[in-house]
Amino acid sequence: MRDLPPDGRVLLICHVNPDGDALGSMLGFGLGLRRLGVRRMQATFPGPPEVPEPFQALPGLDLLVPSAEAYPDPDLVICFDAASESRLGELADRLETADAALVLDHHASNTRFGRVNLVDPHAAATSVVAEELLARLGVGLDAAIAECLYVALSTDTGSFRFEATTPAVHQLAARLLATGIRPGDISRRIFDSRPFGAVRLFGEVLGRARLEPAAAVGHGLVWTYATQDDLARHDQRPYVLEALIDSVRCTAEADVSCVVKQTATGDWAVSMRSKGAVDVSRVAVALGGGGHRFAAGFTGSGTVDEVVDRIRAELDGALTGPGRH
Ligand code: 5GP
Ligand code: MN
Ligand code: MN
Repeated sequence: MRDLPPDGRVLLICHVNPDGDALGSMLGFGLGLRRLGVRRMQATFPGPPEVPEPFQALPGLDLLVPSAEAYPDPDLVICFDAASESRLGELADRLETADAALVLDHHASNTRFGRVNLVDPHAAATSVVAEELLARLGVGLDAAIAECLYVALSTDTGSFRFEATTPAVHQLAARLLATGIRPGDISRRIFDSRPFGAVRLFGEVLGRARLEPAAAVGHGLVWTYATQDDLARHDQRPYVLEALIDSVRCTAEADVSCVVKQTATGDWAVSMRSKGAVDVSRVAVALGGGGHRFAAGFTGSGTVDEVVDRIRAELDGALTGPGRH
């Protein structure tokens, strides 16, 4: 960073279908670099350039450009919340064309594809890694940076409910809140606000959920699916489906939950969650995706039933517990 030429071009990138951690850590870090005097800087993500509604009030959105307009050969590329180059779509080539590539992430499966890799698998979110680096660069928190990092931290910890919510996470949250940001407003926007059409759509999709005993797991598997036609009938954008898994995974009888979402190309993007007996990242990796032990995903083709069959077949080999690692 210190070797960056005075007018160096910095390109910030994050994973496809960006979530709160991807966008929040990227924009928060970008605002920090701006405070350091970095002038020529863009932020972007692969795929359609639209920002999901819940994140449309994030500070730093003015840094965003569509991926097609992103610097083709930046001096420095910094990548956020992506475990591998495959999560960067059409932007993966920037790792080759940039003079330097820095990766900030918290996935245990990270392939260390940058020249410098700051990867902390114990960090609750990439924003934890981003804040540590900002501090090392001498950038203190202000409200705009803090709001971005708070969105990232609260989304990846499920509002401070998941196992990764350590004392250090709460200490960081306290420092973010001390800048004056309003957690009630932020949480309502991020977690508790969706169009009425999405509420109806959720009703339909949850109504077709299946609970089945998963012999391998000794506990239940609950799953449902949503199609492009479901979205069209309710006039909804695909991002609304990201919250579905949180309604499905609360099924008490199930240890593993899945939501199978049809993409615009007809493939199926699968979200998986586990309560502990299964390492769903193993299932995801076996099926071409990745993620964390208890939250992972992949994209597959075929019919919904074929996709769910493939998941069932992998559950056996993904049991956690003694001798399983
Ligand atoms: P979500 O279910 O919220 O989309 O994703 C949960 C986690 O699984 C994410 O943190 C991400 O790391 C991982 N993940 C989801 N989909 C994919 C995918 O298609 N490929 C890979 N490599 N990881 C994914
Ligand atoms: Mn993410
Ligand atoms: Mn993350």
